[in-house]
Amino acid sequence: NVKISNVTKSFGRNVVLKGINLEIPSGKFFAILGPSGSGKTTLLRIIAGFEIPDKGNVFFDGKDVTDKPPYKRKVALVPQNWALWPHMTVFENVAFGLKVMKLPRSEIRQRVNEVLDLLGLKGLEGRYPHQLSGGQQQRVALARALVVKPKLLLLDEPLSNLDAVLRIKLRGELKRIQRELGLTAIYVTHDQEEALALADELAVINEGVVVETGEPREIFIMPKRLFTAKFIGRTS
Ligand code: ATP
Repeated sequence: NVKISNVTKSFGRNVVLKGINLEIPSGKFFAILGPSGSGKTTLLRIIAGFEIPDKGNVFFDGKDVTDKPPYKRKVALVPQNWALWPHMTVFENVAFGLKVMKLPRSEIRQRVNEVLDLLGLKGLEGRYPHQLSGGQQQRVALARALVVKPKLLLLDEPLSNLDAVLRIKLRGELKRIQRELGLTAIYVTHDQEEALALADELAVINEGVVVETGEPREIFIMPKRLFTAKFIGRTS
């Protein structure tokens, strides 16, 4: 599991995370739901190792990884804007992480092909990102994350740049892949409906504080906090 213990983070005088405690069970789809600016991305980047907390610790399966660099954590992060390399083809984008790991060429080809298959991207290997639709670009970003066989998949509002129909379709695919691969997924979103549809468990966060945690149904039907009730009741 992933355990976040009393994590605090400031940027200058802006205290973004104020003592976050969370436990994310292995193999679950865990959503972090909160309004814009509540500190969701910062928390995800701390779990990935791209930011170091000022105070507190991050544990993976009981091991303290707070100071470990991202590449030693077996995590993959899909950022909000996907951040594909524009000058690389689909194949090269997906293969890049494996090249950095210096895997043999034949293994790279096999793993890239497997993951492109899984995400329905076969036939698009030679295209550049600008030659793809938004949904295809999103799938490439996901392929690039999955190809390194992470234990933990971190997703930062990965569907927010897509239209509603595609968003719902890809939601289903994401969930299917997470289950098939038995991954632990942490999914950051401000979209209540998305959190309800995807999450096995959910944490609501506001202004750098965890407001409540639980199963989505519990939280949606019977929120314990006024903030949650107001936030969930509001249409986005
Ligand atoms: P959004 O949904 O809008 O992305 P969020 O909940 O993910 O919001 P964060 O991106 O974590 O929130 O940002 C929380 C606060 O931290 C914001 O006030 C932001 O301006 C600030 N912040 C985040 N990263 C940095 C940074 N590198 N330097 C300075 N301030 C930062």
